[in-house]
Amino acid sequence: MNLILPFMIDEGLFRGRAVKIDSLTEQMRTLKEYPPLVEQMLAEAMALTAMLSDSIKYEGTFTLQIQSEGAINLLLVDLTHDGKMRAFAHYNPDTLPTGAFSLKEIFGTGSLAFMVKSDKKGQEDYQGVVELEGESLAKCAEKYFAQSEQLLTKIELYGETNFETGHISAAGIMLQKMPEKKNQTLEETTIDKWETASTLLASVKKEELLDKRLSPEKLLFRLFHQNDLTLFPAKDLTFACKCSLEKVQTMLKSLSKEELQSLCKNGVLEISCQFCGKKYFIKEEELL
Ligand SMILES: [Zn+2]
Repeated sequence: MNLILPFMIDEGLFRGRAVKIDSLTEQMRTLKEYPPLVEQMLAEAMALTAMLSDSIKYEGTFTLQIQSEGAINLLLVDLTHDGKMRAFAHYNPDTLPTGAFSLKEIFGTGSLAFMVKSDKKGQEDYQGVVELEGESLAKCAEKYFAQSEQLLTKIELYGETNFETGHISAAGIMLQKMPEKKNQTLEETTIDKWETASTLLASVKKEELLDKRLSPEKLLFRLFHQNDLTLFPAKDLTFACKCSLEKVQTMLKSLSKEELQSLCKNGVLEISCQFCGKKYFIKEEELL
């Protein structure tokens, strides 16, 4: 089950999305292997990407990017408007923490950025960035919405590695107050309702979110059945990479003749897609 389930509560006052990332990690693993901790962070970042992207209307690609000085120094997730997701991470296997770890131990100092690249010409590209801090990726994203967008946001998000089965999954729920008109202050009743709704969301347990037998629909009903819950159609997510020989060739055009020559071995340049691991072989004479 890999999906985004949009919903609203309290007569549309608050909107939310439940996200479940499950077999997507298995699909990713058939293409590229990561240590369990890295794969779990990728799964959590994929779930966060799905939540955030669904709050923006776009036709193109939504990208979440974490850059840091820590063991995982680069993590990138792409999601197209039609649910095609791909992700990769660069990491240092020697400094990856073992045992109990915090966001700080995994990433160190860094930043979390969101970008939207539109397929349509003339559409603005959206970009947001926040310092990587807090106990989790979810708390870091909450801080971004509070600081940059002044939107009340609550996110519960967990990833899990089952060391017996090797199964890695992530799931979460995001709740957000719809934007107010400019300079409009929140009414007291709205603040009360927000406190109730966010307390209900905070009551969700990691085991419930990650329970394979508990559908996001049932879980949302369990949490918000007294809050006039409305569910919207779920959107499926699939792992798909849009790399191609043409794109690789275009990228290589930015390199000089000397750089290209230094990359070739026995007259062939071998290049792997960072996202899906697919190998491309290009003959030296075709490059120069
Ligand atoms: Zn690829």
